[in-house]
This record gives sequence, C-alpha cells and structure tokens, in this order.
Amino acid sequence: MRVLVIGAGVIGLTTAYFLQRQGFEVTVVDRETGVGRGASGGNGAQLSYSYVAPLAEPSVLAKLPSLLFARDSPLVFRPRLEPAQWLWGMRFLAAATRERARATTAALLKLAFLSRDLIEPLIADEAITCDFKRGGKLVVYPDEASFAAARAQVEYQATLGCEQMLLSRELCVGREPALAGYADRIVGGVWTPSDAAADCAAFCEQLADRLRDRGVRFELGREVSSLRARNGRFEGADVDGGSLAADVCVLAAGSHAPRLARDAGLRLPIYPLKGYAITLPVARGAPLPGCSITDIRRKVVFAPLGARVRVAGFVEMAGHDARIPQARIDALVAAAREVIGLKADLRTELQPWCGFRPATPSGLPIIGATPVEGLYLNVGHGTLGWTLAAGSAKLLAEVVAGARSFGTLRAPPTIDPRPFAFT
Ligand SMILES: Cc1cc2nc3c(=O)[nH]c(=O)nc-3n(C[C@H](O)[C@H](O)[C@H](O)COP(=O)(O)OP(=O)(O)OC[C@H]3O[C@@H](n4cnc5c(N)ncnc54)[C@H](O)[C@@H]3O)c2cc1C
Repeated sequence: MRVLVIGAGVIGLTTAYFLQRQGFEVTVVDRETGVGRGASGGNGAQLSYSYVAPLAEPSVLAKLPSLLFARDSPLVFRPRLEPAQWLWGMRFLAAATRERARATTAALLKLAFLSRDLIEPLIADEAITCDFKRGGKLVVYPDEASFAAARAQVEYQATLGCEQMLLSRELCVGREPALAGYADRIVGGVWTPSDAAADCAAFCEQLADRLRDRGVRFELGREVSSLRARNGRFEGADVDGGSLAADVCVLAAGSHAPRLARDAGLRLPIYPLKGYAITLPVARGAPLPGCSITDIRRKVVFAPLGARVRVAGFVEMAGHDARIPQARIDALVAAAREVIGLKADLRTELQPWCGFRPATPSGLPIIGATPVEGLYLNVGHGTLGWTLAAGSAKLLAEVVAGARSFGTLRAPPTIDPRPFAFT
C-alpha cells in the first residue's frame, strides 16, 4: 500500500516514520529542497507537554483590545480583504468559552502525553542528536491577576494528570538563576519538571536520513500544485513536471494545507499565525538557562539548545508575509537582555527567522480521515506542532492502518481520535 505524505515538516516526517513502521510504502514530497524548512525549522524548541491550553479562552476576550492595539503588542491583527481571515477570527471568538477551552485542554493533554511517551525513545532509538534536554519549563507571570488564572489552570490540569508546581518569585529565581535581574517584574511562576526542549530542525534532518536509509522516498524541491480526487476518491497529486500516484495521501502541509485541501472540496479552518525567533550563541556571552522559560508579560519563550538559546515570540495575523522587520528582532533581543540577562551585543549573529504556525480557531489539530476516500489530514498544530508531533503521527498512522486492514482485527488507536476528527 503506497502512501504519499505532502509536507516534510516535523508533522509530515513523523507521520512518515510511524506509517513506515506500520508497513506502508511511503513517499514524502516537499516544495523545499531540504526538510524542516517551514514552521518547524526555527521554532521555539519547547516540548511543552503541560502547557497546551488553547489561545481561545474566555479571558482573551477582555485582553483583546489591549493586545491588538497596544504599541509593541505581541499580538498583531492586520485586517485584510480575505474572508478566510475574518471567518477564522469569528470561529476563534466562538471557541473562547470556558467549556470549549477545558474540553480542548483535556484532549490536547492526552495527545501531548502520548507524544511525551514516544519522542524520547524515538530520539534515542534513532540516535538523533538534537540537543534534547528534559530540563523542565518555568512560566513566569507579571501580575496577581494572571498568576491567579494560572493557579486555576494548574488545579484543573492536576485533575487530568499534570504534575505542576506554583512557585513564588524567590523560588522562581532559585529554580532559574538567569531570571535574577528580572525578579521585580514577576510575581510568581508555574514549574513543570517533565517538559523538555530540543532543536526541531536537527530532528527533522536526521529523521529524514534514517527514513531514507529504510527506503522512504523523498521528492524534494517539488511543489504539489493540486490534489486530484474523482468520485469521492483520492487519485493522485500533480507536481511540477508530472504527478505522484498513491493509494493513500496524508496532507501535512502546515499553514499551506487549506489551498491544497480545497482541490478536494475540503475547507480547512487553518490560518497562518506568524512568529519570529533568534538564536543566541552562549559562547559569545549569552546566559544559558537550565530550563525552558516563558515570559507571559512579553509572550516570549527561551529554550536552551546545547550551547545556544532559542528566543521566540509574537503572533501576527497577516497572511503569509515572510518579511522580518528589524523592530521584531530588536524586541526579541531586548527581551533576552531584560528577562535572562543577555549582556553581549550579538546583533550580527542572531540568525533572524520567521515562520507560520498552522493554527485552527479552537487550537485542536485535525488528524484523521476526510470524506474523500484515501485522503487523510495531519494538520493545524498551531503553537504546538513540535510538542504534539509524535503523538499526532502515531494516531494518524493507527487510523490509516485501521481503515486499510479490510476486516482484519486491529487494536483501537492508543488515544480517542474523535476530538481531532475533520468535521
Ligand atoms: C515562532 C514560532 C515558535 C514556535 N514555537 C514552538 C514551540 O516552542 N513548541 C512547539 O511545539 N511548537 C512551536 N511552534 C509551532 C510549530 O513550529 C508548528 O506547529 C509546526 O512546525 C508545524 O509543523 P508542520 O509540519 O505542520 O508544518 P511545516 O513545518 O510548516 O511543514 C509544512 C511543509 O509543507 C510544505 N508544503 C506546503 N505546501 C506545499 C506544496 N504545495 N507542495 C509541497 N510541499 C508543500 C512546506 O514546504 C513545509 O516544508 C512555533 C512556531 C513558530 C512560528
């Protein structure tokens, strides 16, 4: 049974890995000449298994005006003459209820815990060196109101199996001395010992090498121009200079998935949320935090990657505009100075990067079958694609294998796939 995976980001590659282990013959196609060149390449590097609460939750409504209109806001909405943007915004607001946010959190935690169980053995078994470190994660809060909301979330998540601790300001600095100069700007933090960080680009490159060694075919530098479906069945994908045939296709094209899905008559509620990152070389005087840090005031994350620190942040809703304004990079440098005490002037060495999070309004990725027979989706992982990749890929491979086993008895998927179904 031949499977075509469209997209060689972290989602497409892990999908190929688990499909191949299920015995499928896999081809991965990507328009870039290398793997992991989309949102996966320079992301925040955090494996945030316990911080999966969606952006769409009730308190975001009250914060929206200040987030959208404040100068240097981490959240930017640039209105466009684009129905997809407005539709996405309306669905986001509709999803921002307490009930939906809690249901989403519960479903995402199951997927995140599955991913946590899978990723470390995968990295070890495949001898992938990607600066993986289970150093924990500390999220620091600027005021009593945001810390109280975090406390309520910790209490709720404890009922779902999360092990997290609330720390005072002093305990935050004790846990992470790099925060010493920032102590007067925080009131406390949430500490999660089991969270981790790793370089997603290195993971993608080495996983692709291992897959190639096992016979997975890579069609790189080939853009899929359209998907072909006839009589409700997937038929093939047109690529520049020809077409690729397969029995099954998994669309894993990140924020570009909606355009291809439209060819098959599917509307995907995915919008690109742009973000930026820089990478600080520690050897040149940047401080090295021992754990991942998220500063809620600035919505910026810091992740240790071997002898480097990845600093990432901002959410811009303005289509696929790949320009990198200097002001955004300066703001990340300023955050590194203020929050973790960066001293050296590293402006020429920062490898500025931007990427597009493939976000659904609810925060739930879409994993599984579609009304088009033979066409599956593994898309819409938003701010959490690296965190959720391994679990999403295993779930998708189990769903495909279950559907293709023609009456043979198969075990049900490891977790309930229904919250992630395409509707
Ligand atoms: C600034 C920032 C920080 C982030 N931080 C974190 C973090 O700390 N932790 C975390 O878990 N997640 C984080 N994320 C989110 C995470 O990076 C994404 O959710 C994840 O990379 C999505 O992976 P993907 O494989 O779906 O998409 P991508 O990595 O974008 O891959 C999609 C691939 O499809 C290919 N493609 C698209 N269209 C076509 C076509 N027509 N033909 C052929 N190929 C095509 C693209 O070239 C691309 O390679 C962050 C994202 C950003 C932008």
